[in-house]
Amino acid sequence: MRSRSVHVVIRATALLIVGLIASVAGCTEASTAREACIAGAVRTRACGACDTGVEIFTCSNDGTSELSIPCTGEDENLPIDPRTSALVCEHFENPMVFIAPHPDDETIGMAGAIREGLGQGRAVFIELMTHGEMSKVHEKLNDGGKDSWHTGTHHYKLTTQEFGDARVREFFEAAVRLGVTGVHVHGFKNGGLTPDDVASTIQYWVKRSTNLDGVTALSLRGTAGAQDPQDQKGLPHPDHKAVWDALAASELPDVQGYCIYNYTQNKSTPDQTYDISPWCADKRAALESYKVWNPDAGRFAVGEHSVHDLLAKAGSECHEFIVYPPDPGAP
Ligand SMILES: [Zn+2]
Ligand SMILES: [Zn+2]
Repeated sequence: MRSRSVHVVIRATALLIVGLIASVAGCTEASTAREACIAGAVRTRACGACDTGVEIFTCSNDGTSELSIPCTGEDENLPIDPRTSALVCEHFENPMVFIAPHPDDETIGMAGAIREGLGQGRAVFIELMTHGEMSKVHEKLNDGGKDSWHTGTHHYKLTTQEFGDARVREFFEAAVRLGVTGVHVHGFKNGGLTPDDVASTIQYWVKRSTNLDGVTALSLRGTAGAQDPQDQKGLPHPDHKAVWDALAASELPDVQGYCIYNYTQNKSTPDQTYDISPWCADKRAALESYKVWNPDAGRFAVGEHSVHDLLAKAGSECHEFIVYPPDPGAP
């Protein structure tokens, strides 16, 4: 795990709130601590913003209750609501989880599917695996050049972390516009994402989903692998492939991959071309998040600098390109 700055800021805010609640709770505890109890007796109390943690009190020999183990396991890895940064406490029986290796993949390739899922009343989450901090746009923003479509000259000396944070800001706005239930922002290395990194995220959701008669009620979506070539040699982006390899290996019943590059390259071989006309306007609105130029607010239109044509075509072509895992029974 590396730079988790945006998450950390949000977590810090959340922890501050938790801290305030805890200090108030602490006062209450001090008064109850003087109540008589049976020496050696143990009681527990839920803690954390979502009551997912536990603190343990033990009754000491003088008959007063003492905090013996402070809160552990509180709010562990809960997703956050992108609108408010509040932890999403609820348990959802059959969540839909979209795994995006980089900011923009979720919107370019999967916005229609996300809006469709929400329209069906599903809880929809996005797992952003990296901050996309290795994009070539980072150097471009400091190369002294200009673009006709935005003000100012490229003289922005952003650190790698600041650049990644700018990309995550674009992602958050897109997540808000899409209206998803919650997001996780991970800090895995851009260009070095592994199937194991993705598998840990998948396992998290398997544990958080309802298991009915041995079937996990979880829908998993992510980027496609070999069926969505990205470079001149016809190879997929390694991070996209890592997502797909983990999805295909999960053997969960409802898994789909989405081609990201087909809008401009036309070299993908999807198993299905899916009409997203009902959600195409929503997708266009979310794509705008990647075009916002406001350097004072840390917004550098990284998506637009990086993949202008892809954003334009993904918004005008009302289709998404689905691949399915190979049938394990097939040769
Ligand atoms: Zn990507
Ligand atoms: Zn520019």
